[in-house]
Amino acid sequence: MSDIGARVARLVRPEVRALSAYHVQDASGLVKLDAMENPYSWPEDLRQEWLERLRDVPINRYPDPGAHALHQCLREHLRLPAAAGLLLGNGSDELIQMVLMAVARQGASVVAPVPTFVMYELIARTLGMEFAGVPLADDFSIDLPAMHEAIRVKRPAVVFLAYPNNPTGNLFDAQAMESILQAAPGLVIVDEAYHAFALQSFMDRLARYDNLLVLRTLSKQGLAGLRLGMLCGDPAWIAELDKLRLPYNINILTQVSVEFALTHAQVFDAQTARIRTDREQLSGALGKLPGVRVWPSAANFLLFRTGRTAKAVFEGLRRRGVLIKNLAAAGGVLSECLRVTVGTPEENRLFLDALSQTLESSDSSVQPG
Ligand SMILES: *Cc1c(COP(=O)(O)O)cnc(C)c1O
Repeated sequence: MSDIGARVARLVRPEVRALSAYHVQDASGLVKLDAMENPYSWPEDLRQEWLERLRDVPINRYPDPGAHALHQCLREHLRLPAAAGLLLGNGSDELIQMVLMAVARQGASVVAPVPTFVMYELIARTLGMEFAGVPLADDFSIDLPAMHEAIRVKRPAVVFLAYPNNPTGNLFDAQAMESILQAAPGLVIVDEAYHAFALQSFMDRLARYDNLLVLRTLSKQGLAGLRLGMLCGDPAWIAELDKLRLPYNINILTQVSVEFALTHAQVFDAQTARIRTDREQLSGALGKLPGVRVWPSAANFLLFRTGRTAKAVFEGLRRRGVLIKNLAAAGGVLSECLRVTVGTPEENRLFLDALSQTLESSDSSVQPG
């Protein structure tokens, strides 16, 4: 045996070795309600039209490095003010990475209320940055005094505010967010990944705060497989961040398919409206199950807790063919919590049936300790 282990350890940065790779659960054969995907596909005639469009795409050529046509189309879709800049990423994850790469230097830190989207911390740590999480209050609102204290002490390069927050599903108080924007010495990224389900936005505040960047994605709206994220803000920021963008980061199939999809935006709007309605239905039905508490949500998922351990419920559901997300490992306000994505009415029914059976069965009778 060579001492490859020692060699790797010598070369790879300790903060990278300390990480565990982002884990994606195997969903084969299961009703997949774990990843906030839109459960609907396109009507057949639209699929045909799309495939026709793809037929002539020159995949032997590099794509337009600036994705100009797509930019134009997205600016309209986002109703972006003419004065605002736009940066596209291979998913919003890549944009989070670009922002942090631009500011990562000795002593630079990231602050966010927690629990929140895990990639903020994961990417900050890969870049050797400190991540300071400020625990949310018990009702999942921002603990504003604690947040201001963290901003005063850490002087963070970046503050992340997910609006609505994942995994708690709530919209933070807009005034509290504005006070953070006013106090933050660095950037404040308002991550609107669930905008289609919340219909609230900080986009119109871009003109007022030059340290605000608004992050969007098409993933939760139905195009997760295409990977397209959008970062909006003052062109002075965007110009610097654009230097970190790898050329051709938006592949040609994504450029063409998103442009096509946006010319049929009404299809997505109908799907997301449907999901918003079904969210309320699912929430009502979930809350009626014995011992279940479900929190209000402005996103396409629901956070809930039962009288059983999250682990027992998660495994009981999986045995019955339904995959959701167990959040218990996060602890704190998420103790024994689970998260379910709003699916089709049929998927939601399968989930509710599997959950009722799980809660009734003796194999999951473990009480939370
Ligand atoms: C899902 C999610 C993202 C990631 O979106 P991609 O564009 O698919 O990378 C970003 N932020 C939040 C809060 C999310 O929940």
